[in-house]
Amino acid sequence: MKATFEKIKRIYSASSGPIFIVGCFWIHVWFVWFFLRIGIIPIAVLSTISCIVYLMPLVMKKENLEQNVIFLIFCEIAVFSLISTMILSMRCGFFIYCLPLPLTSYIEINDTRRKKLLFLGATVAMLLLVPLSDLAGRFFSVYRQRMEPYNYMFLLGNFFVVVASYGMNVYVYMKRRERMVKETKYNSEHDALTGIHNRTYFYQYVADAVRRDAFHGCFIMVDIDNFKKINDQYGHDVGDVALQTVARTVKEKVRENDLFVRWGGEEFVIFIEKISLEDAEDKAEFIREALAGTEYHDSKYLTVSVGVTEIREEEGYETALKRADENLYVAKTTGKNKVVAS
Ligand code: GH3
Ligand code: MG
Ligand code: MG
Repeated sequence: MKATFEKIKRIYSASSGPIFIVGCFWIHVWFVWFFLRIGIIPIAVLSTISCIVYLMPLVMKKENLEQNVIFLIFCEIAVFSLISTMILSMRCGFFIYCLPLPLTSYIEINDTRRKKLLFLGATVAMLLLVPLSDLAGRFFSVYRQRMEPYNYMFLLGNFFVVVASYGMNVYVYMKRRERMVKETKYNSEHDALTGIHNRTYFYQYVADAVRRDAFHGCFIMVDIDNFKKINDQYGHDVGDVALQTVARTVKEKVRENDLFVRWGGEEFVIFIEKISLEDAEDKAEFIREALAGTEYHDSKYLTVSVGVTEIREEEGYETALKRADENLYVAKTTGKNKVVAS
């Protein structure tokens, strides 16, 4: 049952646009037939124009198609809603289609000029609905009389369609918003090149760990040796591949819940909770060897220098991090491709 529902949801979200357009087209075809039959020719003509509008996506340019179609359809809804209300009165409920338009156009339309145009247009149309409908009554009384027996049926039908599509829109917007929030959070916490966590995530992790009083363990600071040369000799693209390879290799060597971030440039920081300095040093050595033995591009290898330290009792993590950096500096100035721990 749940799987069937998920399948329907998937199919619907992939094809809701075309389903909506085809649905509107056939509704207007029915309107043409119906209003011709009861002798309200202006609405039959108006519906014929609407049918043409719903067929237009078939011949429109592919470029920016979705936005152009949305704009066109929203205009059709606003115009149809306003004119049909003037001719048939408010009693048949075509005015209801105007009500969600300012909000939906604001959300759906990307182009600011079009967004403003529709937002203002639909708002003004709504404000004018009552006076215009009253004013037009004098000219269209014959049509209104012909429509009288069907008003209630249309009112119910239009109300149902608008409520149903409004509900559907709310669902789609909620899902879209959830996805956007997730994406934004992911992007703000991850490094775009290597896909591992970034410094922003590090500070969040630290704030949380300090609050839980769980920030005990060791820092391992890794810096690629002579990375500038890699860039200079083989180009930035190869440099990027090297960074990705380092990130992937280290990720395979640390545990899922160890903190591993790109600190900046070609520098990475690992934090392992509740590990002794000796074990952290072994781990760092293991990582250094793994990296030295990993080909990053066409038989090219690189080395790294590593600084290791432990967060000591009564000291802040910043002090420990500074010491890891100092150890890294010692590794750099005493030959590189080594681990220094203290
Ligand atoms: P050392 O052995 O002393 O660490 O020298 P190094 O050349 O590795 O270090 P240096 O700080 O002199 O150079 C780091 C270079 O990293 C400079 C910068 O252009 C490059 N870099 C920083 N971020 C990126 C990146 O995202 N992609 C690429 N390709 N290069 C980067
Ligand atoms: Mg370096
Ligand atoms: Mg560096």
